[in-house]
Amino acid sequence: MPNAEKPAPAGKLRMGMVGGGPGAFIGPVHRIAAELDGKIQLVAGAFSQTAERSRQAGESFGIDPARAYATYQEMIESERRRPDGIDFVVIATPNHLHLPVATAALSAGLPVMSDKPATATYKEAIALQAAVANAGLPYGLTHTYAGYAMVREARALCASGKLGAIRKVAVEYFQGWMSKPIETTGHKQAAWRADPAQNGMGGSIGDIGTHAFHLLEYVSGLQVTAINAVLRRVVPGRRLDDDCNAFLRLNNGAAGTLACSQVAAGELNELRLRIYGEAGSLDWRQTDPNRLIVKWLDGPEEIHHAAAAYLSSEARAVARTPAGHPEGYIEAFAVLYREFAEALIAWKQGRKEPLPDTLPGIIAGVRGMRFIERAIASDNQNGWVDF
Ligand code: NAD
Repeated sequence: MPNAEKPAPAGKLRMGMVGGGPGAFIGPVHRIAAELDGKIQLVAGAFSQTAERSRQAGESFGIDPARAYATYQEMIESERRRPDGIDFVVIATPNHLHLPVATAALSAGLPVMSDKPATATYKEAIALQAAVANAGLPYGLTHTYAGYAMVREARALCASGKLGAIRKVAVEYFQGWMSKPIETTGHKQAAWRADPAQNGMGGSIGDIGTHAFHLLEYVSGLQVTAINAVLRRVVPGRRLDDDCNAFLRLNNGAAGTLACSQVAAGELNELRLRIYGEAGSLDWRQTDPNRLIVKWLDGPEEIHHAAAAYLSSEARAVARTPAGHPEGYIEAFAVLYREFAEALIAWKQGRKEPLPDTLPGIIAGVRGMRFIERAIASDNQNGWVDF
């Protein structure tokens, strides 16, 4: 019997992680966020490329040494045979492993929570979508920013129609950490991101452009229908784009811009979304995530605070601390894990409903990979391409 068909444990969902070994960036965030709400426990992993480093990681996380595996294949195979085997697999590896790990997990009856981008190529994303459909198992994608209370508020505001018909959108994600060729100096995170074989063909557009693209569609409720993108490799010798400026057309006739860069010197994680309707607009910045600025054509500017009683039920549902006590990246990540865990528990109890639409999944994953593929096609053709 696949693990996902076993009754929910009285305690917590058992998580097996691939990636997140010593020195990894996002693996530790997954681990902390997954466990924050007390619904999930890390019990197994293939944390690194070598058995020794996986063992070291397992030891530091306090899991049973027998469950720190040398490879993800071994983890999936061994955990299947255990009565207390893992309930789902988390993927926190470089992008080229997302598809093989996800398909191995799904074929073994294990739901998946994957980091973005969904895969390394658009073709792979289509294959993954088919694998998810065939398995009929939950698949979540950690587009972190979807977990912020004020992103949920912005989304509810757009859906409410109070802004009027949306006319213009502007999303940007600027970082500066790749301003020099650090991939040639042993910087681990930069090295695989600059290598098409491990990263896929989208450089800055894959790493952070996909976040910006997702945020735009997630909050506005609109879909991009055409793109005109200019990609650049600013740092000499770099094989993938490190900077992008794109014009967008949206399915309601609105227009927009998407800009991302990893050579914006001095910027850390400057993600900002602005949406303009006929009657008003909103402005959210990841560096000030507990506030949403709302501006009205015929009224004063407003500042909406996370967890305030006047917010939408969607925003209040995910706020944890009283208004004025800041929440951030870990809490937003944990919101996605909580939604995944609740859906998985219901699913294991026989209520096999789709994942909530607040939680990014395979459709968002395919859209993100399409964005990369279309942006590259547009850049190659020097002009507009349909989506
Ligand atoms: P990283 O290089 O810091 O960590 C990758 C980990 O995967 C390392 O521990 C490495 O040893 C391990 N690994 C590599 N090959 C493996 C294998 N065959 N088996 C098991 N483990 C293996 O990279 P990162 O910055 O943490 O990025 C990982 C993923 O997370 C990427 O897909 C990236 O796009 C994504 N990411 C998402 C966010 C977000 O906000 N959601 C932020 C950063 C990174």
